[in-house]
Amino acid sequence: MTYLAVPIAAPDLSRANRQVKAALAAGAEMLELRTDYLENLSVDLVRTLVAKAKEAAGRPVPILVTCRDERQGGAISYPLQLRAEVLAGALIAGADFIDFEYDNFLVTESQERIRIALSQSPKGRLILSAHDFKSKFADIKKLYRDILAVYPAAIPKLVYTANHINDCFEAFDLLHQTSDERIVFCMGRAGLISRIIARKLGSLLTFASINEKTATAPGQLTIKQLKNLYRFDSIDSETELFGVIADPVGHSLSPAIHNACFAEMNMNKLYLPLLVEAGRQGFDAFLDNVLRRKWLNFNGFSVTIPHKQNALNYVRANQGLVEPLAEKIGAVNTLVIEPRATNGERRISAYNTDYAGALDAITSGMDITASDLNELPVAVIGAGGVARAIVAGLSDAGAKIKIYNRTVEKAEKLAAEFGCEFAGLDGLANLDAKLLINCTSIGMHPNVDTTPVPKEYLKKGMVVFDTVYNPAKTLLLKQVRQKRFKTIDGISMFVNQALAQFKLFTSQTANPELMRKTICNCLGGKSLV
Ligand code: NAP
Repeated sequence: MTYLAVPIAAPDLSRANRQVKAALAAGAEMLELRTDYLENLSVDLVRTLVAKAKEAAGRPVPILVTCRDERQGGAISYPLQLRAEVLAGALIAGADFIDFEYDNFLVTESQERIRIALSQSPKGRLILSAHDFKSKFADIKKLYRDILAVYPAAIPKLVYTANHINDCFEAFDLLHQTSDERIVFCMGRAGLISRIIARKLGSLLTFASINEKTATAPGQLTIKQLKNLYRFDSIDSETELFGVIADPVGHSLSPAIHNACFAEMNMNKLYLPLLVEAGRQGFDAFLDNVLRRKWLNFNGFSVTIPHKQNALNYVRANQGLVEPLAEKIGAVNTLVIEPRATNGERRISAYNTDYAGALDAITSGMDITASDLNELPVAVIGAGGVARAIVAGLSDAGAKIKIYNRTVEKAEKLAAEFGCEFAGLDGLANLDAKLLINCTSIGMHPNVDTTPVPKEYLKKGMVVFDTVYNPAKTLLLKQVRQKRFKTIDGISMFVNQALAQFKLFTSQTANPELMRKTICNCLGGKSLV
């Protein structure tokens, strides 16, 4: 059992009571009373708080009482003796767990006070904690052993800061190698996934806040994010993991899309945002770490900026399979890990679903088949990553492509590679194509009043596809619709590439309507992670 513990961090009783009610209503499975946030702290105040929290719960919700040392993240600096008294008083008042810093437990008087209280409240349990707000512990396994040597019945709680996602693997290893009750996860943006994976690996609890404002540690998720976005209630030791590798990753819509589909199809799978900082070394180390730990059950990744080329290089270097067109594009956006048929070892394969997603969006939007793309005159604006994938896909299908770009040299280079024509943006005045595709960021939020093509350049009967998906109705598409020409929006491409990834991850077909609805809900709302 991994409890979803919610910190109650308020300066007085009445605000603490309001937080308790909000936490319980949102689905808290354990309440952590952070008494170091209380002004005018006293043993009586804490006893009252414990009693009120128990009464408000009206059901058996475990109560954990903490009075954190300021040096380990405490809010108000209270003397050690008072904090030990508070925890002892909380046990007598019926708290199920108390959390005391391991360092402070080594102080004889504090230890004696806590031991006496524990002997008087046999149901109460002691969590002995250590926190590092800067980096990893020097030796986490030794620290774990030391805590149990001092008090064998203690629940070790080891929480450190991950400065890179690769720092999380020590926490995962400790959870994997131990089975007694323990609490292990990482703080910081790079440690976010450890707060979710904690449930899969059996940490006794993980923390989530009522909302962003009440978070008590860096990287803490809200209850809503943990339950709704990251499927907390359905995670177990068998849950298969997937994720999007990116930097930054917080804006990514992929976790919402894939998790919504996993939930609808009742699959024991979870999709995570994986903040892998820029740089090939960190990227390679992340995949090495994952592949080495089969028990983590990571089976596939979406890959986006800045790692699409790193992903291709990694798979090449590890003798994995690379889809031929992805090889030609020079970038991959999907990695799948699967056992080799011959010896059961894990092999990694790389694909590019961007071009396939775009081609599917085009054929369904124009109501044609892939063979109709042969000889189709297409104008592509842009010569970046998305343009490259679309040009590769369309030229493979036989389309006649002209590339227009602000930096003409880039258009020339791309055109030479795929046998296309090219021009600068001024060439758009003489557009002659059946299909026009915007592959630039022009028109994207927040610059929604801009368009890559003046409306007078649009020719009758032209189909216009804008790859920009935020907003879905770009100025370009609005102007095209006013002329009553056909349009294809960026969400269609997004959905189709995500459908292709989902199929690679699961061999099953997800619901495109649910994907589109999820994307629209996210774009209409706020930040996701
Ligand atoms: P990229 O590699 O950075 O390329 C950006 C392209 O936009 C370049 O051709 C650049 O021209 C051009 N550009 C940028 N600002 C411009 C401006 N102010 N005026 C003229 N040209 C400008 O980016 P990317 O990865 O290809 O992404 C391009 C767009 O595709 C994104 O903005 C996003 O909206 C869209 N996208 C859609 C999906 C989907 O699934 N629908 C997925 C990914 C991306 P220069 O070469 O002259 O710099």
